[in-house]
Amino acid sequence: MIKINGLSKSYENNIDVLKDISINIDDGEIYGIIGHSGAGKSTLLRCINGLEQYNSGSLTVDGQEVSDLTGKELRVFRKNLGMIFQSFNLLERKTVYENVALPLQVWREKGNRKKEKEEISKRVHELLELVGLSDKLKSKPKELSGGQKQRVAIARALALNPKILLCDEATSALDPKTTKDILMLLSDINKKLGITIVIVTHQMEVIKEVCEKVALIDGGKIMAEGYAKDLFLNP
Ligand code: ADP
Ligand code: ADP
Repeated sequence: MIKINGLSKSYENNIDVLKDISINIDDGEIYGIIGHSGAGKSTLLRCINGLEQYNSGSLTVDGQEVSDLTGKELRVFRKNLGMIFQSFNLLERKTVYENVALPLQVWREKGNRKKEKEEISKRVHELLELVGLSDKLKSKPKELSGGQKQRVAIARALALNPKILLCDEATSALDPKTTKDILMLLSDINKKLGITIVIVTHQMEVIKEVCEKVALIDGGKIMAEGYAKDLFLNP
């Protein structure tokens, strides 16, 4: 699903932020990328979603070389990538319903207004049921706990049926119990929908909990890569 081969990236004032990165993330996998702050994880994620250009190497998502995509193609490409963040990035003045409906409204098939609204409403209800928040439809983000906010963000990220869910430090703001709940939800979603999930984190316990495969990144280089069960001998 994501094939990265010999990828290198420098910023103008910061060379070799990523050095010769090669990893393969298969369809339907839960793949972890772990490293300390400054290791290059966010840069790698931004290369995957086309927000950042790389200097050399290849990065394909579902067979498409990301650096080949231009404006309109990139916009369409990004529909296939759901993203969630440490800070949730919800719209504070909108309700849970409206937050989840937003991507559906942006990408709606223009036609019959009434049918459109019904379809969006059906999808939002479906998504909120999936994340266990059917009873919070009318709440605003400030009325929710951190875990509930992340559930809303997950529902929104899945709205357009992406093939991949990218999680950028998605549990870093949550307590251990809530972290576990969110990871169980991600695992459940992976099984139910068959979606590929990439988890970027500095938290080893997150990797051990749900990831089948792991890449350890440090100083922009892959230091170790493989099955979690082989890399961590003591579970
Ligand atoms: P991580 O997500 O693992 O914390 P980052 O990808 O954010 O790592 O950063 C990796 C390195 O690249 C750091 O040294 C950081 O200072 C540098 N960096 C990140 N973004 C930029 C940028 N836009 N311009 C220059 N240097 C950057
Ligand atoms: P109508 O415009 O007839 O109310 P909608 O399709 O907008 O129909 O709404 C269908 C259902 O979705 C409603 O039962 C309502 O609970 C929910 N809903 C729609 N919009 C919102 C919203 N902005 N906030 C909360 N719930 C909403």
